[in-house]
Amino acid sequence: MRWDIAIVGAGASGYYAAIHAAQTLESYGIEYRIALLERAAEVLSKVRISGGGRCNVTHDQRDPRLLVDQYPRGHKALLGPFHHHGPDQVIEFFAQLGVSLKTEPDGRMFPTTDRSETIINALVAEADRLGVQVLTRSSVQTLVYDAATSLWQITTTAASHQARTVLVAAGSSPQMGRLLEDLGHQMVAPVPSLFTFHIQDPRLEGLMGLSAEVSLRVLDPQGHPTKPLVHTAGPLLITHWGVSGPAVLKASAWGARMMADWRYNFSIEVNWLPQHNLDSAALVLAEFAGQEAKKSMSNHPFGTLPKRLWERMINAAGCGGDQTWAHLTKEQRMALAAELTQARYQVTGKSTFKEEFVTAGGVDLGEVRFKDLSSKRVPQLFFAGECLDVDAVTGGYNFQNAWTTGYLAAQGMVSWLLEHPVEARD
Ligand SMILES: Cc1cc2nc3c(=O)[nH]c(=O)nc-3n(C[C@H](O)[C@H](O)[C@H](O)COP(=O)(O)OP(=O)(O)OC[C@H]3O[C@@H](n4cnc5c(N)ncnc54)[C@H](O)[C@@H]3O)c2cc1C
Repeated sequence: MRWDIAIVGAGASGYYAAIHAAQTLESYGIEYRIALLERAAEVLSKVRISGGGRCNVTHDQRDPRLLVDQYPRGHKALLGPFHHHGPDQVIEFFAQLGVSLKTEPDGRMFPTTDRSETIINALVAEADRLGVQVLTRSSVQTLVYDAATSLWQITTTAASHQARTVLVAAGSSPQMGRLLEDLGHQMVAPVPSLFTFHIQDPRLEGLMGLSAEVSLRVLDPQGHPTKPLVHTAGPLLITHWGVSGPAVLKASAWGARMMADWRYNFSIEVNWLPQHNLDSAALVLAEFAGQEAKKSMSNHPFGTLPKRLWERMINAAGCGGDQTWAHLTKEQRMALAAELTQARYQVTGKSTFKEEFVTAGGVDLGEVRFKDLSSKRVPQLFFAGECLDVDAVTGGYNFQNAWTTGYLAAQGMVSWLLEHPVEARD
């Protein structure tokens, strides 16, 4: 079969691209043949498990300039694309398919049904209505551009195909990475992003389940702040094996590549009182000690930290178990201020964050035109989704990248097809 558009991968970005290309061609009254080639037996399998089975479709951050801040890799490249097709357009698209989304207090958006199946059913039904062919158990094995005929020759584990344009939407598949390298594309080596940190430290031991709002800095194995600085803020959760929570996951995303280079041995500096620095914390502790002089330090914590965490901190600062605030020495006060605002912890490894894990790395962004996601190296080749060297923190942003790049790639392929009409169909 000769396809106008062959899409490698029936995941989020592949489906979104197929539907938009078909809708646009249909609106022009142009006949089209679009295929989704999928290696697995099922389509959209990541969408199914996403967001704990609820699918965090996007985020209610409508300003492209703020939206791009959530992408450690891809923030510059995505600014233009988000102006063309951002969360507003995604919400509108799903509304047209009869799916309404709701916004949670932290801005994450889910289908009102709280079921990822709602998203899958809508995408599958629309692709079906538009006549998009979905070929499962069809793992793409070779991808060759024939300059003489201006056609792609594709072999899958099931059949051979020809295509006028090809969209690679194969996620973080290493095998697809090798095929793209053979075509002359540079692949940025994959490393994990979005993980939690292993820390064994007596100050945190046995405190699993406690959380606090912190700010966090990543330090290199020599204990120096990283360049560029990796500095995050938000809730930190103490776990059985170390720390997790948004502040940690964000740090893992922004520091993904350096942390891999350090083999996940580095340290972090946690400020448990993010509204203070060392000096201001020392001052307010002095004031507090004066006001609460007769009270026990362990029973009358400063600030809003969980009591058990506070007790560990005063111990680490050398204050005795039943010491009153009146007996806080200057050395203890400075040590406590440091413990509260500059506590250092040694990270010795990582664990996958099961709710949402992504891979940093993929097609080098310098080789892609972001106006239509076309390859600068090979004609009639386009990219969308996680196969690009783009990834985001948690919150629906990774799907937003899949939708936006899928949409623009679809428009790019349609433009090429319009400029190169077929004279006669075989
Ligand atoms: C557990 C989990 C939960 C997540 N939850 C969220 C969330 O709630 N919100 C969010 O924004 N992001 C979430 N993500 C990230 C999100 O799922 C991905 O960013 C997104 O799926 C990327 O879409 P994609 O189309 O680029 O790739 P994929 O969805 O990975 O699709 C790629 C498809 O290509 C196929 N394929 C690969 N190689 C070949 C080949 N050679 N031939 C044919 N087919 C091939 C694969 O089988 C797959 O079906 C989650 C990820 C995980 C793992």
